[in-house]
Amino acid sequence: MAVTISTLESAREKVDAGERLDLEDGLALMESDDLLALGELADLARRLRGGTDDVYFVQNLYLNQTNICRIKCKFCAFARTERQQGAYLLSPAELAEDALRQHELLGFTEIHMVGGEHPGLDFSYYVDAVRTLKEALPAVHLKLFTASEIHHMTTLSGLTHEEVLRELRDAGLGSLPGGGAEIFADRVRRLVAPGKEHPDIWFEVHRTAHRLGIPTHATMLYGHVETYEERVDHLLRLRALQDETGGLLAFVPLAFHPENTVFERRGWTFTAGADDLKIIAVSRLLLDNVPNLKAYWISLGMPLAQIALHFGANDVQGTLVREEVFHAAGGRAGTEQKVEELVRVVEAAGRVPVQRDTLYNELRRWGE
Ligand code: SF4
Repeated sequence: MAVTISTLESAREKVDAGERLDLEDGLALMESDDLLALGELADLARRLRGGTDDVYFVQNLYLNQTNICRIKCKFCAFARTERQQGAYLLSPAELAEDALRQHELLGFTEIHMVGGEHPGLDFSYYVDAVRTLKEALPAVHLKLFTASEIHHMTTLSGLTHEEVLRELRDAGLGSLPGGGAEIFADRVRRLVAPGKEHPDIWFEVHRTAHRLGIPTHATMLYGHVETYEERVDHLLRLRALQDETGGLLAFVPLAFHPENTVFERRGWTFTAGADDLKIIAVSRLLLDNVPNLKAYWISLGMPLAQIALHFGANDVQGTLVREEVFHAAGGRAGTEQKVEELVRVVEAAGRVPVQRDTLYNELRRWGE
């Protein structure tokens, strides 16, 4: 216990002095069980770096162009093979029709779309999908395709990452979501996603996007086989990328959901709430250069996401209409929140709800 206290004190001294925490600090924080002290320290760090009481959310629609995927990540309950029951591939016109219908009902400002790595598509399908969505809803920001999908498009087309990203950007792509990162450590990658490309590719895609003026997001899928050290390593690699490019808008820790995956058959269960909050706090403390940290309520559940606002998070993501990926793995939080409910949750946490667009421009503010 004495070790924990002195560790937190030494981290606090660094935070107070505006000094950067290192690998050892990160490990010590991960090992600490003093959850409330971690939360308080993370919130302090957030404020010292200019954070306010503002908590952001966006009105967004989730689309998945296909669930057909050539890879079999062990944590995935979403993917299907082409012949499996429930496999689908939507045409660009079907995607746009669906988005238009939902937009009439809900008026979202962002489409978040990711999907499986369909082995039989042409790159032109992706360009068409972006262009058709943009033409249908020109004012809506298109946050589409993980780094893995971008890489898959280079294999389908023979183009480079830069060429693929340029074409997508010119068709209307606004930013990349952060998926495909999982845990960067080779050991973990081999165990949970052996068919996925090397983690260096994730960095190359994001670095290239930043160079082309396409901002991106970053994730970490935690709560399976990774060690504390591998979590800290993941965060520090992201911090180094951000030092280099400054192109990351936000970091999103994603709690692993085992339902309908091989891990459920091994008796695994959901992450503990204490671990979820610890990840939020340590992420905020280590990622001193990434402006926004999301408490992704679809993965955490809304009550825990609300508490996470006192552990360093400043964003509750969004209305998330029709999220399917976490839902397939037993996400317990439903798939849609109305704006009024998000506002209520943020206000009940003692914070100020601010509706934003994808690039964190303020659209509406409550309570002042
Ligand atoms: S996580 Fe993505 S790449 Fe992996 S199997 Fe699922 S859909 Fe495919």
